[in-house]
Amino acid sequence: MTPSFDLSDMDTGMEVLDNLTRNVRQVQDDILQGILTRNMETEYLRRFIHGGLDKELFKKNVPIVSYEDVQPYIERVANGEPSDIISARPITGFLLSSGTSGGAQKMMPWNNKYLDNLTFIYDLRMLVISKHLDGLKEGKGMMFLFTKLDVTSPCGLPARVATSSYFQSAYFKNRPSNWYYCYTSPDDVILCPDNKQSLYCHMLCGLVQRDEVVRVGSVFASVLVRAIKFLEDNWKELCSNIRLGHASEWITDPGCRNSVSSILKGPRPELADAIEEECNKGSWKCIVTRLWPKTKFIETVVSGSMEQYIPALEFYCNGLPLVSTTYGSSETTFGINLDPLCKPRDISYTFMPNMSYFEFIPVEGSDDEVVDLPDVKLGCCYEPVVTNFSGLYRMRVGDIVLVTGFHNNAPQFKFVRRENVVLTIDTEKTNEEDLFKAVTRAKLIIEYSDLMLMDFTSYADTSTIPGHYVLYWEIKARNKDGAENLDDETLSECCFLVEESLDVYYRSCRSKDRSIGALEIRVVRKGTFDSLMDFFISQGSSIGQYKTPRCVKSAKALEILEMNVTARFFSKKCPSCES
Ligand code: AMP
Repeated sequence: MTPSFDLSDMDTGMEVLDNLTRNVRQVQDDILQGILTRNMETEYLRRFIHGGLDKELFKKNVPIVSYEDVQPYIERVANGEPSDIISARPITGFLLSSGTSGGAQKMMPWNNKYLDNLTFIYDLRMLVISKHLDGLKEGKGMMFLFTKLDVTSPCGLPARVATSSYFQSAYFKNRPSNWYYCYTSPDDVILCPDNKQSLYCHMLCGLVQRDEVVRVGSVFASVLVRAIKFLEDNWKELCSNIRLGHASEWITDPGCRNSVSSILKGPRPELADAIEEECNKGSWKCIVTRLWPKTKFIETVVSGSMEQYIPALEFYCNGLPLVSTTYGSSETTFGINLDPLCKPRDISYTFMPNMSYFEFIPVEGSDDEVVDLPDVKLGCCYEPVVTNFSGLYRMRVGDIVLVTGFHNNAPQFKFVRRENVVLTIDTEKTNEEDLFKAVTRAKLIIEYSDLMLMDFTSYADTSTIPGHYVLYWEIKARNKDGAENLDDETLSECCFLVEESLDVYYRSCRSKDRSIGALEIRVVRKGTFDSLMDFFISQGSSIGQYKTPRCVKSAKALEILEMNVTARFFSKKCPSCES
């Protein structure tokens, strides 16, 4: 059995944190022993372990695997064979990973232990935030949280995204009644499977209770930016609803309609006037602090692929702290950020040793050099490997993380990139991090012209000879509607700067071998990335966990982007080949 922890108040909570982070090796060994003892008779482990069960044998005999290696086992359970193929504890559902960052959607075995862990992490992060910020107890959170409709596995078990598994559970329904779990939106709005109605009602409830809002957020920053853009497009209708005291007719979900009307509490013309006045001002700058003046922080993940939303959030939120609390996935929750008010570039997550058994493959090394959690080295990059409580043994996560420090003996990691996202035309391989760095540099040029890059993705276009990189950019004017003044010189310079910032392999293919053509930026219409998101959601991604794919491979997604291209620009110079 895994121990449970009492986080009921600040003192006991901090003591639990202290003990866990001091005794990392012991906690990890106990977790592994617990998992092995319980699961020694599973078909999967019996293949590798005969009789003995200790850590050494586990590491020697059980292979490090990727999802594709265990997929047949998971599918057998999904098709109705007994859980104990992989897990002694019954598998009661599956988690669908967002799948938009790496490729196809994956299905992970799931049971309540995942929610035990998540609840622990939520409670802990509440304590950590309370330790750093005052005055939260009397307020509410305007949190854009969503539930996605379950799909059902062939044997009838639910398959859903991680956040939905929490919202649909008794853990959420019976959550503690403290500030951290107190939202402006009623549960029915969070649970509404129609994400458009849900988003509209989240916003309506948040506007009506604007004086009570002390934090604003979403799981990932992309969702919050989308919510603010949604407000920009729909504030007149929202204000009219507040003025008249009822939600628009197209809000047909009964749970949403009833619960929202109890929050609206009849016509509120003065409130509608006040909101309209703010929304009517030319610029959308500081809109969050203008509409919700008591907001103390923004709670949303802005690390990794979410980094690109930081400028937009800073613009909307007037420098409020961007608090990135948690690093997790469908395999496991990893840890939390113990320094919630740090600058976005300093975000690191302290891995909690009670979540799963963690191992680490050094990026520069091989599978043989895998190390335990307490043995990672400062300044080194690793890919985490997870053994969890629901039938995953030594599974590679596909993320790359960098050790930035230790809290007691618990390592802290900065999220570096997702391993398997690459653009490639010739022998070069451009990963997500390279692409980000290059775009971050290039977009400074358009920022001088008071334009903002709202979102981007890329595509390796091999229909031309030679093939070339295409970036799709959605650009917005800071102060006016639309993105005027896109002059050829500026955008061509952006193309060139992206190329200059890519690695020496790219630059050499491009300039020496001429095996890659000039990089192209295709500017797309406002709202294109919303349509892209809608498309991926219709394919099974969840709005709450959605991450814009940084490289698009699906033909349909490309079609959406292509339909919306308004201008094309090419790099006019070759990048230098110096390393
Ligand atoms: P999913 O399994 O769909 O929930 O996606 C999990 C993936 O999202 C992780 O493996 C990371 O690549 C990414 N992710 C989750 N949390 C964070 C975070 N705090 N910072 C950066 N990336 C994250």
